[in-house]
Amino acid sequence: MAQLLDGKAHAQRILDEVRTQVAGRASAGARPPCLAVVLVGEDPASQVYVRGKVKACAETGIRSLEFRPPAELPQAELEALIDRLNADPEVDGILVQLPLPGHQDAKRALHRIAPGKDVDGFHPVNQGLLLEGLPGLRPCTPSACMRMLAAHGVALKGLHAVVLGRSEIVGKPMALMLLEQHATVTIAHSRTRDLPGLCRQADLLVAAVGRPGLVEGSWIKPGAVVVDVGINRIEDPDLGQRIFRAEPRKLATLRDKGAVLCGDVRFGEAMEVASAVTPVPGGVGPLTIAGLMANTLQASLPG
Ligand code: NAP
Repeated sequence: MAQLLDGKAHAQRILDEVRTQVAGRASAGARPPCLAVVLVGEDPASQVYVRGKVKACAETGIRSLEFRPPAELPQAELEALIDRLNADPEVDGILVQLPLPGHQDAKRALHRIAPGKDVDGFHPVNQGLLLEGLPGLRPCTPSACMRMLAAHGVALKGLHAVVLGRSEIVGKPMALMLLEQHATVTIAHSRTRDLPGLCRQADLLVAAVGRPGLVEGSWIKPGAVVVDVGINRIEDPDLGQRIFRAEPRKLATLRDKGAVLCGDVRFGEAMEVASAVTPVPGGVGPLTIAGLMANTLQASLPG
């Protein structure tokens, strides 16, 4: 049976550390760091994520400002709001919650955020610094995965890491961070041939595809470490029957509540083959929010 890589406890340690530093700076007369969160429209999942982020701000002593314009907000007005927040000396970090409504260009909006306030680490300047291995604001989710691996003493040097997914916010920066730590990295995506065969070569498998239960137990090399970034809400009982064969509790939740959250990896099957696995929920997710608080603190520091 694999070890459970529990993100919650480690996330709490990061939050405690941020709270201590914020309090220390406050007692030296500094104002608290301030995070501006922009949520356009009323996407229910985004509302849940924003609530979690605002709650973490309150827990750590970070001031949060919420902007909730309607879904119809024109792109120009969104960019004008970002410009105002860029110019506001009281705001240290700006987060535009994704996805944006269909008529808005997310890339244009994200590129508008001043790099020094880009606490999500999505701006090309910060992505470029990461590519060069230089300090900057780094994307929270892959940073969270790296923290998780470090906290559990996973020695990355020389490992073959397979990253499923090549998005700018998870897959690509994850691959760069692993490379920086001397792993040998393969990036896979929707056009990759023989995905199961490739995954079976991985000492470390990171799944960030957004496909519930894509990775089966038989795809995992015995003893591998598995990090599941995917967060999927499923309602289909037939899909549940297929992917929760080794997880009777998830199946029961799906039956009783009509929906359940799961990752991209079949967790129950992975636990039988791997040496360590992250759960969903409770794995990478809490660490991502803690990483956002750490980035906001970093953005507020002089220099
Ligand atoms: P994304 O932008 O949709 O990218 C998904 C990637 O997966 C793409 O590169 C895509 O390939 C690849 N892919 C899709 N289907 C595939 C398949 N059948 N086989 C192989 N590759 C496939 O997603 P994302 O933003 O990176 O997010 C990925 C997942 O992580 C989602 O479930 C998301 O909710 C979750 N997430 C979690 C957190 C957290 O805090 N835990 C944070 C961010 C995201 P192509 O490039 O070829 O299309």
